[in-house]
Amino acid sequence: MYKGYHRAATMKKVLLHICCGICAGGVVEKLRQDGYKVTGYFYNPNIYLAEEYERRLEVVRDASRLLDFELIAGPYNNIVWQERVQGLEEEPEGGKRCSVCFRVRLQKAADKARELGIKYLASTLSVSPHKNAPEINNIGQELSKGFLPYDFKKQNGFRKTMDFAKEHNFYRQHYCGCKFGRK
Ligand code: SF4
Repeated sequence: MYKGYHRAATMKKVLLHICCGICAGGVVEKLRQDGYKVTGYFYNPNIYLAEEYERRLEVVRDASRLLDFELIAGPYNNIVWQERVQGLEEEPEGGKRCSVCFRVRLQKAADKARELGIKYLASTLSVSPHKNAPEINNIGQELSKGFLPYDFKKQNGFRKTMDFAKEHNFYRQHYCGCKFGRK
């Protein structure tokens, strides 16, 4: 069980969009250090195949138990996601398809935060060395006034996520998520 940061009464609530359980490790810790009470939101219709989606969700559930935060799992519809990125299938990782992918996921997270009355929003996406934090933050701030523009990979953030995964022997995926990036 995670020990520490139970100053719930004085903490600000944040809805954290979580792309995978591994990434949640260092990010949840960082947000708590900065005075936020985290509710996790797993919304990733980009993930191909359904079995892979379930596997990643299971790791997030394990992370929520270990780190003691509430977790909400959003809906999963990979077909609808593929329609959103139609015409961008051949884009390289980090290109235009990824921008749309970030927007789809952050839009749903922003809607969820509003529905729950949670003022602040953040995303684990920026912890990856393959992801462009300024781009993610620009999209997030466009969609939600409460979006927190972190670059979670900084200050050893990425290494901490890897340490967390290793410590708990988590499943580590070998591709970003979609079938186009999987090639
Ligand atoms: S490579 Fe990753 S970020 Fe880019 S579209 Fe695919 S799942 Fe989304």
